[in-house]
This record gives sequence, structure tokens and C-alpha cells, in this order.
Amino acid sequence: MEACKLLAGCPFFNDKMPIESGMGKLYKQNYCEGDFSKCARFKVATTAGREKVPIDLYPNMFDLAENIIKENKK
Ligand code: SF4
Repeated sequence: MEACKLLAGCPFFNDKMPIESGMGKLYKQNYCEGDFSKCARFKVATTAGREKVPIDLYPNMFDLAENIIKENKK
């Protein structure tokens, strides 16, 4: 599977966010190198803009991502 095109600048993927190591690895496999279109960070970045992605948004924070997207769709 193709990897996420935002990998290079992503604080999550580049370990700039505190992640419990086991979970971090799993998330990277599931999202960054897997189904990245489902990632909360990816969704916000590709709809609202990369500057709207909160620094502490994790790939599985779907509800928060939806709220940010809604707020920026006005
Ligand atoms: S899938 Fe999400 S967390 Fe992973 S590199 Fe892409 S935007 Fe970052």
C-alpha cells in the first residue's frame, strides 16, 4: 500500500509528539503506512489546510478532526 504523502513533515510520524511506543508503532502501520485517508491529521490537512492541524491531534481523534473541518468549511 502507498504511504501517506504527508509523512515527511508530519510531527506524529517523525516522533515529535509524545506517543506511547507500542501504540505509536501500530498507528504508523495502520495509518501512515496503511489507510492514511482515515487519519484525523490527514483529513484536517487535506480539507481545512495543514495549518489547521493541531499539534497534538492524533490519527485516531476522528471527532475532533470532524469539528475542525466543519468549523473551517464556512
Ligand atoms: S497518516 Fe496521519 S499521522 Fe501519518 S503521516 Fe499521514 S498525516 Fe501524519
